[in-house]
Amino acid sequence: MNSFRIRLTLLFGGLSLVAGLAITLYIGQAASARMSAAGGEALLGIGKTAANALGETLREREREIVLISQRPLFVQRDFDDAEIRRALEQAKRTYRHYAWMGVADADGIVRVEADGLLEGERVGQRGWFVGGRAGPFIGDVHDAVLLAKKIAAPNPGEPLRFVDFAAPIHDGQGRLRGVVATHAHWSWAGDVLRAALPDRAADAGIEAFVLNARNEVIYPYEAVGKVAVPAALPGNGGFAAVDWGDGETYLTGRAAVRSAATTDLGWQVVVRQPTSKALAPVAELQRTLLLLGGIAAVLFMFAAYRLATAFSQPVEALAATAQRIAQGDEETPLTVRSDIREVRGLADSLRGMTAQLLGRRRELQEINATLEHKVQERTEELAAANRALEKLARSDALTGLANRLAANERLHGEFLRMQRSGRSYAVLLMDVDFFKRVNDTHGHEAGDLVLRHVAALAAAAARGTDFVARFGGEEFLAVLPETDLAGALVVAEKIRAAVADGEAPVVGRVTLSVGVAIAGSADANEDAAVNRADANLYRAKAEGRNRVVGDEAGTA
Ligand code: GH3
Ligand code: MG
Ligand code: MG
Repeated sequence: MNSFRIRLTLLFGGLSLVAGLAITLYIGQAASARMSAAGGEALLGIGKTAANALGETLREREREIVLISQRPLFVQRDFDDAEIRRALEQAKRTYRHYAWMGVADADGIVRVEADGLLEGERVGQRGWFVGGRAGPFIGDVHDAVLLAKKIAAPNPGEPLRFVDFAAPIHDGQGRLRGVVATHAHWSWAGDVLRAALPDRAADAGIEAFVLNARNEVIYPYEAVGKVAVPAALPGNGGFAAVDWGDGETYLTGRAAVRSAATTDLGWQVVVRQPTSKALAPVAELQRTLLLLGGIAAVLFMFAAYRLATAFSQPVEALAATAQRIAQGDEETPLTVRSDIREVRGLADSLRGMTAQLLGRRRELQEINATLEHKVQERTEELAAANRALEKLARSDALTGLANRLAANERLHGEFLRMQRSGRSYAVLLMDVDFFKRVNDTHGHEAGDLVLRHVAALAAAAARGTDFVARFGGEEFLAVLPETDLAGALVVAEKIRAAVADGEAPVVGRVTLSVGVAIAGSADANEDAAVNRADANLYRAKAEGRNRVVGDEAGTA
């Protein structure tokens, strides 16, 4: 997995998610505010309609009872008059929620009524009688007392509850004759509120309550004493989100009921709807937005992944090719297929750089090869020079023979060989006789010519395996490997005779004396034989020169 791809993908996904969430949140807030306002207005509208309808009905009932109380029939006739009973029956029938309608005399005794349920009963202490004596009266909702056993409640499961309307009956002189009153079934409030609520109210969770002046629920019955009305209700004609203490917040509107000019009951209609339901469309909108945001995020991530791949794949391929080239596969072409111009540019740059580097390397290799060749040449030249120097260091410039250094090395080598093989060798020391005289008489240059002449004769007279060197001024040394005294004396005599018989330049005749010694196993080192040869040479000089003297002292 490529971290660049993943990072870019996550970045795009995260950004679009954050943007989507922010948009959802903002739109949710704005929509919530608008929905709240619109919902509140709607609830308030319902409340106002219901309150108006309730107030209208109350006023209508009050007007009706007041009109009855002022009818001449009630003002003038005796309460026992059958006309009055008929009038009451008629009036009661006009409104289906009237449960009872009757007249009590000034003493508080029911004298006449529509259905004849309470005639003769004493009602002087009842609120409607007390209130109705003074003027038009509307009584707050209350449970039936006397009629409870006589009338069936309109809604099963609910007690019989009434709202009372009463008005005083005065005679022509304005004296109180009695009180006409009606008990209206409280269930009419249900009719009014049902009419005010929209059809889908229940589905939308919309509920309407009628409260009395003490903020107690008086409608619907199921809510009486059960629904606690919060103290912080919105003002009359207002709406607000209110916590009703049941774990739910409700959008709540409140409208006062204008009941009557004379008696204001202080009722109010409160309509509420759970905020969750009121704002359900907002939640739905937010869900849709979140879904769209999620889809957008996925699309963005996909696009980002494609983009990152389009960028990183050719770069990876380039890296792999570069690595192959680094490992020596120089023929691998550094090409890349990409829609991204920058990536192609990168490939071009890499190709140029690689070609340059490879070219440089080739040049360096060539230079290296040339250098190595030159070094070898120089080394060989040096070795040859060394060999020449070596040869020069061991040869005598005047005669071309081996010099004293070479002679010493040969003597040492021969001595070691003798120690290993046990085979002796001979040492000849040769000195030109009276050479000082040659120099003195003919000059040093003539002496040099004589020396070269003697050297050539000595070398020619020696055998192929023998070694002849110039050991000092006019003194020569020969080493004869695996040679005994007899053989050595023969070689020495041959040399002596060749010099003595030869014609030397400038001076004519020269001779030389030869001391011969045989190296033996008793010798401590190579100098012993040389010393003995030197001693024999001294003897040869002493015995008259131009002769060979040798012995086998070393081998004894
Ligand atoms: P002897 O018979 O006793 O050997 O007599 P000699 O004259 O040879 O005596 P000595 O060995 O004392 O003399 C050697 C002389 O050789 C001395 C020196 O001037 C000469 N000499 C040594 N080296 C060279 C050289 O390279 N060239 C020349 N021209 N003369 C040399
Ligand atoms: Mg000498
Ligand atoms: Mg000499």
